Amino acid sequence: MPNLSLIKNEMPVQDPLVRRNNFLEVALGYTKAQAVDEAKRCLGCKNKPCVADCPVNIDIPGFIGEIAAGEFEKAYEVITRYNALPAICGRVCPQETQCEGKCIRGRKGDPVAIGRLERFAADYHNIHDASINKTVVAKSDHGKLQVAVVGSGPSGLACAGSLAQKGYGVTIFEALHIEGGVLSYGIPEFRLPKAIVQKEIQGLKNMGVEIAVNTVIGKTLTVDELLDSYGYKAVFIGSGAGLPKFMNIPGENLNGVYSANEFLTRINLMKAYTEGSTTPIYRGKKAAVVGGGNVAMDAARCARRLGAEVTIVYRRTEKELPARLEEVEHAKEEGIAFMFLTNPLGIGGNDKGWVESLRCQKMVLSEADESGRARPVPLEGSEFVVETDCVIMSIGTSPNPLIKSTTKGLDVQKWGGIIADEKTGKTSREGVYAGGDAVTGAATVILAMGAGKNAAAAIDEYIKKEKQPR
Ligand SMILES: Cc1cc2nc3c(=O)[nH]c(=O)nc-3n(C[C@H](O)[C@H](O)[C@H](O)COP(=O)(O)OP(=O)(O)OC[C@H]3O[C@@H](n4cnc5c(N)ncnc54)[C@H](O)[C@@H]3O)c2cc1C
Repeated sequence: MPNLSLIKNEMPVQDPLVRRNNFLEVALGYTKAQAVDEAKRCLGCKNKPCVADCPVNIDIPGFIGEIAAGEFEKAYEVITRYNALPAICGRVCPQETQCEGKCIRGRKGDPVAIGRLERFAADYHNIHDASINKTVVAKSDHGKLQVAVVGSGPSGLACAGSLAQKGYGVTIFEALHIEGGVLSYGIPEFRLPKAIVQKEIQGLKNMGVEIAVNTVIGKTLTVDELLDSYGYKAVFIGSGAGLPKFMNIPGENLNGVYSANEFLTRINLMKAYTEGSTTPIYRGKKAAVVGGGNVAMDAARCARRLGAEVTIVYRRTEKELPARLEEVEHAKEEGIAFMFLTNPLGIGGNDKGWVESLRCQKMVLSEADESGRARPVPLEGSEFVVETDCVIMSIGTSPNPLIKSTTKGLDVQKWGGIIADEKTGKTSREGVYAGGDAVTGAATVILAMGAGKNAAAAIDEYIKKEKQPR
């Protein structure tokens, strides 16, 4: 019997007054009964509009049908035919603008909570399947044709997983000491527990994917060397866009000014989130976070958990905030203040070189700019000063130029993004493919995964063609 309720099942969450003082996961996940009830809201549409809007084309009605029937393991099997990282995607994908945005039930009432159901199926599997906790070290088979992947973020992981499924030997080269890219160093523990990221990566290792950490491509080895000297048949570049932007305003070199990337890395990788940590990080009393995207929300919510009173400074209005609605709501519930239509002009410091204020200006919205959003313009004579002892810049990132500067014949855009075919990831360099944020600039986990998966298909075709006698 279908569930005709217009309202989706709420996800239980930690109380905001409690959670703003801890780094434990905010959303607690559906119970079995809630999952089955929610799954029964799916009409199993024949033309599956939700699937068309999923960058990895998961058979959404297929896995939801299994949950409705109480077949939770089967639901997991259906998802993982398309997506190797379901517990991650179920937590962080912007479903509201993708699969759920196309759900027929959303025309009158709430769409089916597809993301929450994906998370449920993955968590159920992770809790109940004993084999997942075993570290199976798959034997590397160097008889296989080898492909190199640069970067272990979602694009690299998805590409590596697909290639391993197709029978290739895959080595991921990762610059940091921990795999996962932004999943590990950027997104905070309270939104995406690191144990879940590691568990899903272990699944790929169990398939035979090798990961060489602490290996910076462009320094330790180059893409050219991987192809010409180490025998890799192709290379996928999924090196992300981890180079933070600053505003170039006075005072950005003061103590207590961070890029959101550095601030979050200190919290995640250097474990400033753990009880009693001695990680060197400034725990400001009053923190100002500049920007309005998901990264700004994450930085603000982390600063709040480290004990600061936090204000988000954003130059447009609430309507234009690029962050997911859920993240904005969660930030507000945790007591984070918002200062809209405000742009920083300079950071003031004391005689010891520490931040003590942020000089700002009020803005008004004018006609739309090239991004389609109303353009903020300064309001004359509206300058004011905010007292703050920590400023976190979260105004975007771009790709690091290292790989471009060390790879022959690799074309990039003016802003640094690698030029690659949208469907295949093929770059200007023979045998080199690219995808994810390194190509598009900062985007989303699932888009990066889609790009990695598409590139894997193209690499497979390329290698097969190369093997044929000419
Ligand atoms: C704080 C934060 C929160 C976010 N929240 C969300 C969210 O809720 N939902 C969502 O969908 N998206 C979110 N995003 C965006 C999303 O995480 C990215 O779009 C996605 O991770 C991009 O994947 P990627 O594989 O292209 O790159 P990355 O995840 O950046 O991974 C690139 C990897 O390559 C490695 N690397 C770089 N250069 C080299 C080199 N020369 N040699 C070897 N390795 C190298 C890096 O160390 C890194 O591990 C968020 C981003 C941030 C920063």
